[in-house]
Amino acid sequence: MAVQYQDYYELLGVKRDATAKDIKAAYRKMARQWHPDLHSGKKKEEAEEKFKQINEAYEVLSDEEKRSKYDRLGKNWRNGENFTPPPDWGEGSFYYSTGDPGDLGGFSDFFETLFGTGRRSTAGADRGGFNNRPMRGQDIESEIEVSLEEAYHGGTRSISLSSSRACSECGGRGIIDRSFCSRCGGTGSIPDRKNLEVKIPAGVSEGSIIRLKNQGGEGYAGGSRGDLHLKVRFSPHPVFSVRGYDLESQVIIRPEQAVVGDKVSAITIDGSVNVNIPPGSRSGQKMRLKGKGMLNKGGERGDHYLVINIDIPRDLSEEEKKLYVSLMDLRRK
Ligand SMILES: [Zn+2]
Repeated sequence: MAVQYQDYYELLGVKRDATAKDIKAAYRKMARQWHPDLHSGKKKEEAEEKFKQINEAYEVLSDEEKRSKYDRLGKNWRNGENFTPPPDWGEGSFYYSTGDPGDLGGFSDFFETLFGTGRRSTAGADRGGFNNRPMRGQDIESEIEVSLEEAYHGGTRSISLSSSRACSECGGRGIIDRSFCSRCGGTGSIPDRKNLEVKIPAGVSEGSIIRLKNQGGEGYAGGSRGDLHLKVRFSPHPVFSVRGYDLESQVIIRPEQAVVGDKVSAITIDGSVNVNIPPGSRSGQKMRLKGKGMLNKGGERGDHYLVINIDIPRDLSEEEKKLYVSLMDLRRK
């Protein structure tokens, strides 16, 4: 996308060798004629556009430095033609101003290409790929699925993600000899895949962001890369369910353990523990293992809840069957 060449002399209706005085007079006359306040309806729109162009022309032709730079470009171009600045078009002449773009608002792309506006937010490629202002690459948002164990203990993980790198053909500028680079199509970057080692901090919580500096989008014209933001998602766990920083799992016991109580082993996030099942336990009853849950940001731990689930045996031996029958008889007495 090149910009359209503007013939400022033609716009003001003056010759190319017009004096500063001539130019000023022409501008005044044109400005009076096209001032938007003097028009209404559809004509007002036209006047606004024309007024803008006249002001732009005067801005350039009334300034000796701008005018001579514009003249250097000169005769080979005609108003309205697509235009890409020559390669020797002084790089240093682009303004790196940080001024408010609003101050200069209303200038054409052509003007901005030649003289700059200090507008910094627009990506280079969008502006036609030929401006040389360094721009920082985009931040990239993605997700990372983390197991509860990884979240609790921390660790490293290698991930593969689609990325881009600077085009080697054009050095990331998108332009070679006044035309778009054929390798990258003028974007200055080539799609790529890369593998990254991601450090998962211990105690990371679901929904939190792991930030990887300079692993985001490619910068433009020497600008730094953006960052990569990975949103943490917990993968489903075969045993534990998560509620905030608390964990929950089931403990399966036999009826006689529920009746008389027992010591059983239960799995927690940091290993197995021995748990006392109290006599008279019921299905669905919860036991709290204090401080056995996930880490929170302050380094404290949530709790682990064991939910009792009484399993009814179906593979009783003859002897067990007899004992159950005796138990039943005892109850009937
Ligand atoms: Zn290229």
